[in-house]
Amino acid sequence: MKTYNYGKQSINFSDIWQVVKVLRSDFLTCGPMVSEFEQAICDYTGAKYCVAVSNATAGLHLAALACGLKAGDEAITTPITFLSSANCIRFAGADVKFADIEPDTANINPDEIEKQITSRTKVLIPVHFAGQSCDMEKISRIAKEHGLMVIEDAAHAIGSDYKDTKVGSCKYSDMTVFSFHPVKTITTGEGGAVTTNSEELYNKLLALRAHGMHKDGEMRSDWRYEMRELGYNYRLTDIQAALGVSQLKRLDKFKKRRREIVDFYNKSLGIQHLVEKEFSNACFHLYPILVENRAELYHRAKKIGLNLQVHYIPVHTQPYYRSLGYKQGDFPMAEEYYKKCISLPLYPDLKNKDLEEIVRRLKEIL
Ligand SMILES: *Cc1c(COP(=O)(O)O)cnc(C)c1O
Repeated sequence: MKTYNYGKQSINFSDIWQVVKVLRSDFLTCGPMVSEFEQAICDYTGAKYCVAVSNATAGLHLAALACGLKAGDEAITTPITFLSSANCIRFAGADVKFADIEPDTANINPDEIEKQITSRTKVLIPVHFAGQSCDMEKISRIAKEHGLMVIEDAAHAIGSDYKDTKVGSCKYSDMTVFSFHPVKTITTGEGGAVTTNSEELYNKLLALRAHGMHKDGEMRSDWRYEMRELGYNYRLTDIQAALGVSQLKRLDKFKKRRREIVDFYNKSLGIQHLVEKEFSNACFHLYPILVENRAELYHRAKKIGLNLQVHYIPVHTQPYYRSLGYKQGDFPMAEEYYKKCISLPLYPDLKNKDLEEIVRRLKEIL
């Protein structure tokens, strides 16, 4: 029996050939492919600057540091996300505040953000859940009113549009972070990128990606470099960047197929799912449905070759965040969503006959 996971990469011959070319070249890392990938992301999203990094978690860490986030500050994110969106705030030594979600999109609710703002709040980290952009105009208005910076966690959302912009353009934010993990929309194995329109943030991100090293002025022409702050090695390799360049060329086709699959599920299942807003044209990363018997469905699906997944266990209920004072009941919309959500297979290599087979199996157990 063929098994289906909730997500899967799509690798074709031209992806493989791009990687092989790098393997046969002089540079496996710190070579030309990384800048080529960064430029391609700028061209695609419309952002001025891009810094490729080793994964999105590293990108979020650098973005939090570039914002100047530090101990004593607070930053706000959603509980319905992967751990990194909150952890990056802790990496910078600051305190995590959560704002509850909108039930129809599972995105952070801007009205709930406003309730969580204090005199210590410095940064907002909205997450474009399942690929659908948050209401960025509202969020950026709130940020401006309170003098906050905005980092978009767009790990799910490369290829998505918000109004007349691409996610990653940073029209409504300071920085946007993408992930290229294999379950995400395009992949480099492991990888990520941060986009920004600010030269100052760009320079901070570049230095922090490579140990806090600077090599400017007269130092350019000799061996000297200066370490001016504590940085990391969060570089992406040229091998990975080459795969990224090739995958990015396929992104619009991936998006088209992902939207077709979502339409197919919407029409053929008749089950409660997320709603796409007027302002969104999403490159969907996930297709969560909402069911009453989620745990039972998960186990029954597994027995018939459907490896579904739950996105996500609300972050504030994790033991680590409980130890910081959060508890069950703090964010009722997120907790209610978590009780029912389960994500169906969604990836571009699914053929129509696969979709029919998946729906046939689901109907047996729903
Ligand atoms: C996957 C994911 C991340 C982390 O991405 P990595 O590249 O695996 O570090 C961060 N935020 C969200 C919302 C994610 O889904």
